[in-house]
Parts: sequence; C-alpha cells; structure tokens
Amino acid sequence: MLLIRDTEVEGYRGLDVFCDGGKIRDIGKNLVRPNAEIFEADGGALLPGLHDHHAHLFALAAVRRSVRCGPPEVVDDEMLTSVLRNAGDSADSWIRGIGYHESVAGMLDRHTLDAMVSDRPIRIQHRSGKMWFMNSIALQAVGMNESNGQLFRKDDWIRERLGPEVDHSADVAAASRLLASYGVTGITDATASNDADVERAWSDIDISQRVRLMGNEDLGHGALKIMLDDYALPEIDEFQQRIGAAHECGRPVAVHCVTRTELVYTLSALMEVGSLSGDRIEHASVVDESTLDLMQRVGVWVVTQPNFLAERGNQYLEDVGAQQLEFLYRAKSFLDVGIPLGGGTDAPFGGADPWAAMHAAIHRKTQSGEVIGEQEKLAPEQALAMFTSSAETPGGPPRRITPGQAADLCLLAKPWSEARGRISKDDVAMTVMAGTITYRR
Ligand SMILES: [Zn+2]
Repeated sequence: MLLIRDTEVEGYRGLDVFCDGGKIRDIGKNLVRPNAEIFEADGGALLPGLHDHHAHLFALAAVRRSVRCGPPEVVDDEMLTSVLRNAGDSADSWIRGIGYHESVAGMLDRHTLDAMVSDRPIRIQHRSGKMWFMNSIALQAVGMNESNGQLFRKDDWIRERLGPEVDHSADVAAASRLLASYGVTGITDATASNDADVERAWSDIDISQRVRLMGNEDLGHGALKIMLDDYALPEIDEFQQRIGAAHECGRPVAVHCVTRTELVYTLSALMEVGSLSGDRIEHASVVDESTLDLMQRVGVWVVTQPNFLAERGNQYLEDVGAQQLEFLYRAKSFLDVGIPLGGGTDAPFGGADPWAAMHAAIHRKTQSGEVIGEQEKLAPEQALAMFTSSAETPGGPPRRITPGQAADLCLLAKPWSEARGRISKDDVAMTVMAGTITYRR
C-alpha cells in the first residue's frame, strides 16, 4: 500500500493518491490510510509511468559492457585505436565495440582492425545495427577465415556462434533499473529475433518494467517485426504473404522503415494485403507529402525516435540533402493528419532516456544547436503523450490516473507548469510499477 501525498494529478493540485494491490484505488484530498507507506510529493506532478514503445533491453544491457566506437566520443582512427587498446578485460576476452560510423575511419575491415588490435578478438557494430566488423583473430574464432571482416546482417549467425550477447541477468536487471530512474514503467522490445526462447529468458529476469515483446513468427503473439533493407528488399509476394499470415493470426506487423523506399514498399504491400489495426511503421525516418498521404490512407501508426535528431543531427546535416531535411523524423505533421505517433528511444541504438527524446521532439536541435524541421516541433504535452500512451496503442490517448488503473506512475519533483519548460530526467522523483516503488531519488 502506497499513499502519495500532495501531488498534482491531471492539473489538479493538492491531491493524495492511494495505491493498493497494484492499482490506483483512491484519489482525493487528505486521504488517511494508516497502514500505507507514505511518500510526500510536495506538489510534484504525478504522470502515468512512461512507456518506451521501441527499445532493445538485452542489447542495452550488452552495450553497457561495450566500448563506444563512434561520434561524438570517437571521431578518428587514432581515437578508435586508443579506445580499443584500452578496452577493459571481459570474461570471454572479446572486445565488443558499438556505435561505429564510417566518418571515424572509413569502412573497417579485418586489416584495418588488425593494425589496431591483433591479439584480442574484436567485433564492432555499425551504428545502424546492420553490420559487424571483425579482426582476423575474431574471424578465426567464428570460423570465417575467408571473410574480409565486414559481416552484413549476420546478427543471428554471430549470436549462434558466440552464444547470447547477454547471459547475465544481472546486466539486464541493471539496465532495467536505469530505465526506472527515468520513470519508465513499460517497454516494447522491438528486437526482430525475439522468439519463444527469448520470451522464456525474459520471464526469468527480475525487471522493473512491464515488457511487451514483438518478434518473429515463432513468438506467436505481439506484433511481427519485419526488418527491411533498401539493398536487399524481399520479393513482394513473399513480403505480402508474411504480412497476410501474421494478420490471419491476429498479429499486426511492425516494419522497420528508415528510407523512403522501404516505407513506400511497405505501404504498397499493406495496400494489397489490407492493414490490421496496430500495423506500425518503426522509425518512419523520411516521409514526404505524398507518402504521408499514403500512410494516412493505409491506416498505419508511427513509432518515432526524435532523440536521433539530437544524437545524430550533425551527421544528418552532412549526409542528407537540403530538401530531404524537412522530411526527417517528422512529428507534428503526423498528428495534424491524425496518424497516431508513439515514442521510442531505440535504445541502445539511441540513448535510453525518454526525457532526452521528448526534449528533442520539442526543440529538434542538433548537438551544434541547429534546428531540423522547425515546423515539426511538438508542444511539451504532445511530446509527453508519445510516451504515456498504452503499450497496445502507441500514439493513442495518454493513460489516465484514475481509480482502477494500474499503479504505473512517474512522480516529478515539481508541478507540470514548471517541469514542462525543462523536460529532464532530473525531475523524476519516484517511479512506481504495479504499486511498487522501483526508483526514488
Ligand atoms: Zn530498433
């Protein structure tokens, strides 16, 4: 039993909120519950616990044990060599690098990596998540002596040879505690390889969030996650059959679309097969006017990552043509035409802090302070709503704080009228999941 005293609920101040049995039971003034644990909110706003609609928790746990190999920390080959040579010991002697971008030292291969480190196996993931680079000793370890060290879309294959990235549930629990400190009470794990085995692994780990999985056919429920690649699009018949088969089992699809081609390909397949409520476009990174119109007609939802604007914006300014910039990670345009817009961080490919993502959705500033897509800026309330809709309906109405609802809550240290001007994880005072305190600062 938990009694949160003197909090602000949906704009009303000075309220007490009583939680019991995992649910909100009562909201009112001067509630007395002699047996309840009492938390003094001092006027802070009580929000629904945040839900990250697109993240990868096992990968986040692995990343926390990895070496950052890309901007902003690492920008050239000298720095890359230095961070690799100074990588700490790991149980299996591997050095696992993440976040690589070719602006650092071009497309890596076994020879460039051997010149940096030759006595320990290295695997470095490109920040797109699509590619791994390995040095010679690593290639030998996985039985790929012939390879040039560039392994494209070989995640499952590598995992099979090396065993799961994370076999320490303690790492996952620690990543989960980090999310709790941001006020996160739920995540949708968007890992395409999630299957029944992975689901069993999840159920054994003690974590502070409700987890909704999407994954492959073997998972059997939740959205079917489909990865697409501009350069290796599946046959359209095969793609449509996969979507149709999922729909027949009542499973919506969640299709990874970062380019216009991937998005148009997906929409045309959905036009043909018919869409199911809950079909999602993950990322929708580039959307021009005609595609926006098509999305609306097909009836898809979007789960976006505004944090990429802050994290990768400078790179986008270099790589993306001027007329495409206004189509990048749009937000307000989706809301204006009634397309539901949910928020996800894509951690660990993006930073795991949803407040940073909301801040980016409001300001759309790159690291150097330039604004990308001024007209796509969201109000703080719209940014928050992306992370407070239910797991089932990303971009749907924000969850309410009313009696009978699950006690999944994020308490801020100040009223919303003050917090909305800053939008920072530093304002999270307490997180409650199913009535249990999972974080207090
Ligand atoms: Zn992802």
